[in-house]
Amino acid sequence: MLADTPATPVEMRVVEYADWVRRLRRGGQVTALSGNAAEPLAGLARELDLLADQISRREKEFERLFDVVHMVDQGVVLDDVLNRIFDWFVDLIPYDRIGCAFVTPDGGHLAAHWARSVLGPVQISAGYSQPLAGSSLESVLTRGEPRILNDLEQYLAEHPESDSTRRIVREGGRSSFTCPLIVGARPVGVLFFTSRDKNTYREIHQAIFRQIAAQVSILIEKSRLYQDIVDHNRQLQEERGRLAEAAIRDPLTGALNRGAIMCALDEALLTGQRSREPVGIVMADLDHFKQINDDCGHAAGDDALKEFIRRIGSVMREGDLIGRYGGEEFLLVLPHLGPDAIRSAAERLRGAVVALPFDLHGTVRTVTASFGAVVAEYTDGSAADLVATADRALYVAKNTGRNKVVIG
Ligand code: GH3
Ligand code: MG
Ligand code: MG
Repeated sequence: MLADTPATPVEMRVVEYADWVRRLRRGGQVTALSGNAAEPLAGLARELDLLADQISRREKEFERLFDVVHMVDQGVVLDDVLNRIFDWFVDLIPYDRIGCAFVTPDGGHLAAHWARSVLGPVQISAGYSQPLAGSSLESVLTRGEPRILNDLEQYLAEHPESDSTRRIVREGGRSSFTCPLIVGARPVGVLFFTSRDKNTYREIHQAIFRQIAAQVSILIEKSRLYQDIVDHNRQLQEERGRLAEAAIRDPLTGALNRGAIMCALDEALLTGQRSREPVGIVMADLDHFKQINDDCGHAAGDDALKEFIRRIGSVMREGDLIGRYGGEEFLLVLPHLGPDAIRSAAERLRGAVVALPFDLHGTVRTVTASFGAVVAEYTDGSAADLVATADRALYVAKNTGRNKVVIG
């Protein structure tokens, strides 16, 4: 007989339990002990099972929190964090819906920010807000303790004034678990867990939330701040884009300004040289424009300039550009346009201006323009030389009757 062979069933159980604890300690899988435990060790077996449950729950909490913390460190915005909480937390706290609301900057309201539900369409989402003063949510926030309502229909019957409860009940919620988000000592918002079943929430869920409350609150607040930075950055980018766009445009007509159209011409000439493609250049000038100002007023003159650009724009091809070269003189850059096509293109522009009379502050008047055009073959000279050639052609058009196209 071996000296250390356990003699009694109790001793055999003790060895079995020691082995079980060792496996648990090393992170291995263990099966429940309490099912087959007989007295006198039944109580110990039950406690060991509870301990194993708690360890596995803590592991899950840490895993979930680690995943979310890691995500926030990568710079993930608030809605992504909330969606991950929805996807990952269901084995810690049961729910069919989660909503998130924030205390407004003045501290006076709780404003819904986000909600996700498997119950159906949500009835409380961004834009919905409730005053905090005297509300039950205010006490949840000041006490800092999660609140359980395990029968929302009964709660609504007792508090018919609670609009938010009515909406949640309409969504199909029957019990709720309301968790304050507190950063430092400052209440920042609330996470609402809702279940389709009555009596879903227990003391254990409060204990779980208490364990993770500080981290979850900080995560949400941190991702919210990050969201603010992202939003702010986007606004700055848009503003910068608008400013950059405004800097190259003539404010009256929206055409490019002189600097920008000359830059565009340089670029088009360079591209034309590289791809051995011609570039059409047209200088356009409104006829007797001074007379329009004199007859109809300066504001009507401004309208005529805007309408001129609108009409020219309506017959330009994609890739064509127009800029205001001087007062009522405009430069057009028409890439790929060769000697055969330049006249008909310029005639199309002229026709668009003269086609219908302009309505100038109540005065209806036919407006015409003259056009001087030149084609830059890829061997030709500088932008300034080409513009000068187009300008000379325009001068000829002016001196030979106006409302016409002359090719230089
Ligand atoms: P032409 O047919 O020879 O081109 O005659 P014109 O009257 O069009 O040319 P002129 O150069 O004698 O006059 C141009 C006028 O355009 C003078 C100027 O006051 C006016 N003008 C320039 N810029 C603007 C503007 O932004 N708004 C208005 N309303 N008028 C402008
Ligand atoms: Mg003119
Ligand atoms: Mg002029």
